[in-house]
This record gives sequence, structure tokens and C-alpha cells, in this order.
Amino acid sequence: MAVTSDILVIGGGIAGLSAAAALAEHATVTVLEAEEQIGFHSSGRSATMFHYALGDRLVRALTLAGRGFFDDPPDAFAEVPIGRPMPVLVFAREDEREALDALDADISLFAELERLDAAGVRELCPLLNADAVHGIADRRGIRLDPHALLQGNLRQLRRSGGKLVTGARAAVVGRSAGLWEVATDGGESYSAPLLVNAAGSWADAIARLAGVRPLGLEPKRRTIITFDAPPGTSLDGLPFAKTVGDELYFAPESGRLFASPMDEVPSDPCDAQPDDYEVALAAYRMEERTTVKVERIHSKWAGLRTFAPDRRPVAGFADDAEGFFWLAGQGGFGLQTSPAMAAVVASLIVGSGWPVADVSSEELGPARFG
Ligand SMILES: Cc1cc2nc3c(=O)[nH]c(=O)nc-3n(C[C@H](O)[C@H](O)[C@H](O)COP(=O)(O)OP(=O)(O)OC[C@H]3O[C@@H](n4cnc5c(N)ncnc54)[C@H](O)[C@@H]3O)c2cc1C
Repeated sequence: MAVTSDILVIGGGIAGLSAAAALAEHATVTVLEAEEQIGFHSSGRSATMFHYALGDRLVRALTLAGRGFFDDPPDAFAEVPIGRPMPVLVFAREDEREALDALDADISLFAELERLDAAGVRELCPLLNADAVHGIADRRGIRLDPHALLQGNLRQLRRSGGKLVTGARAAVVGRSAGLWEVATDGGESYSAPLLVNAAGSWADAIARLAGVRPLGLEPKRRTIITFDAPPGTSLDGLPFAKTVGDELYFAPESGRLFASPMDEVPSDPCDAQPDDYEVALAAYRMEERTTVKVERIHSKWAGLRTFAPDRRPVAGFADDAEGFFWLAGQGGFGLQTSPAMAAVVASLIVGSGWPVADVSSEELGPARFG
């Protein structure tokens, strides 16, 4: 079989495209994406914030390592802004104060935070009700544009001679004579010595196809609704506002508000659809923690956030199959960590510099699951 490229990447979400764009500077790269368009699954269904109120130390370190990229993106990303400033507010009731203190201490290692009292909380987010009496604010949050981010990575990939093939669902994956061979369900064949598995919620399924031990990835559904803000609300200055516990977040969205009940419902890999219960829960929690009445839901969607067993991302070569590279488990932080993770992948595959001083390759590698 003819060798298609040095590296085949399965998955045209943010993980696969950003890694492919970084790798294409050093090698020939082909990305296979099952859907007709990029970002159809998780990467196009996100809340799209760059913030530090999720994940653990390692996730925050990866997020911080990508900050420079978002502040000053490479040329290929110049066409459409990949983000705009939006403050982040984590708010708490009196009985949640200890949890807020703990989060404050964790995030302060990575970002400059302001501590807010009840008046400060209300000033930053007038929609919150009187229960919100404590807050921490990061004035340097970024609302990302996932489509601009995906397109910028695609542009970068193509400028370096890399290729994206859409409508190319990997159906058979095998290794022979030192090459990974992938046959798509459309009957096309691709081969390369190195395969990057960036198939998001399907990454374990790809491993099974390839005869590689799966990691135990768990896709979890998360729901978002949009609705009108109360008449007269100035949406411009509103923050991305989140409860200190994982109950609710909301933010301005295209002239309306969006909210999520921060659900994590286990799911098979699929085209995730919102469930009535979580849609109602989003509206209920919005009314419980703010002064907003959710009269009519304008739109709703759901996406899968796929976690490794320790809820940390995975990047590294499988120890049970030559040339099989895992790039999975981006959970709820795959957009904001994509610049750092792409640089990690390039470092591990083509030997460019290691990008995150505080994170080791062992912490990210699949061998940690035994
Ligand atoms: C509601 C919600 C809110 C979120 N909020 C944030 C946030 O604020 N900040 C943040 O950074 N992240 C956030 N995320 C997480 C982020 O969206 C994900 O971590 C990220 O999109 C994962 O990217 P991915 O490329 O791994 O997966 P995907 O985007 O799902 O891409 C995987 C791709 O692989 C393809 N594929 C699968 N099987 C095959 C096959 N056999 N052959 C070829 N292709 C295949 C799929 O079609 C898919 O396009 C959120 C996610 C959700 C759902």
C-alpha cells in the first residue's frame, strides 16, 4: 500500500487539528474526519471559555501555557479573532465560602484574582440574586470562538502542506510491515508509520479497532440553553459567571444569555442531544441563583466531554502498539489547552521543545493507566 503521509491523525476536532497543524511543520500529515465538516462534535458545542475554574493543577498549567497563543495568535489565525475579553466570576453563598476560599488558593497560583464582597459581586454581575455574597473575579478571561480556532488550525495545517479529508470515517485500522493502514467506510485507504488517535469520544473505539488496549475513557453529556436576558440588561460587560460548586454557569451569548446546569451524564459516543430534564434543570438553577426568569428557551444543545479515569488529558505513545499515539481525554478543557497540548504532541513525536515546565510527559502519558 502507498504511504499517504508520515503521520495520520484520526479526528478533526480541536485536538486533532491543533496537533496536526503543529506536526505539519516537521512532517507530512493527513487528518481523517468522519463528518463532512470539522467541529461537528464536542469542539463545536462548547461553552468556549478560557478560564481556570475547572480541572486540577495540571489542567491549569496547560491552560496557562497556552495563554500567550491566545493573546498573540500566529499569522494563520489573524483572519477572524479567536477570542474576546470576558471577565470570569465565580460566586458563592455564605455557606459556600470555604469552597470559594479553596478555589481562590488553587487558581491564584495561575491567575491574578480579585476577591469580591456582595456589592462587588453585584457590580460585576447585576443579574445575581442576594444569595451571592462572595466572589472571585479574573478580569482576564477570554471567550473563545471555536470555529475561528478550528479554521486557524486548518489554515496553518494547509500552509505547511498538511491535508484534511472530511467524510472519512476510519472503519478498519491495522498495522502491517511497519505501517498503520486505515480503511474508511467510503472504501478509501490511507497509511503512515505513525497514527495519532484524536477521535474524542470515540478514541477508545479507535483503539479497539486497532487492537490497542483502551484507556477507559468516559464521555459525559453537558447541556446548554439560550434565552432572553431581562429587558434593559446590558450584556456587554457581563461576565462568564459560575457557581463555586458544579451547579450552574451562564454568560452572554449572541444578544441573549446561555446557561448550563453543568450536567455530566454518562453517554455512549454519539451525536449528543439535550435531554428535557437537563434543559429544565438549567432554567431552574438560573432562576434559583439569579433574578432572571427563563420565560422561553430560544435554543438548546448538548455535547460530550470525554474524560480519562483521572480526568487529566492523555498524550503519548501506547506501550502495547508501535507508532500508536494517544491524544484523548480533553474533558471540559480541550479548547483552552489545545495550544499547549499541540506543542506537547509535537515535542513527543518530532522532538521539538517541551512546552510546559510544570507538567511532565509521564503525567500525560497513557502508561499511567497500567
Ligand atoms: C457543553 C460543553 C462545554 C465546554 N466548555 C469548554 C470550555 O469552556 N473551555 C474548553 O476549553 N473546553 C470546553 N469544552 C470541552 C471541549 O469542547 C472539548 O474538550 C474538545 O472539543 C474536545 O476536542 P476533541 O477534538 O477531542 O473532540 P471532538 O471535537 O469531538 O473531535 C473528535 C473528532 O473525531 C471524529 N471521529 C470520531 N471517530 C472517527 C473515525 N472513526 N474516523 C474519523 N474521525 C472520527 C469525530 O467526528 C470528531 O469530529 C466543553 C464541551 C462541552 C460539550
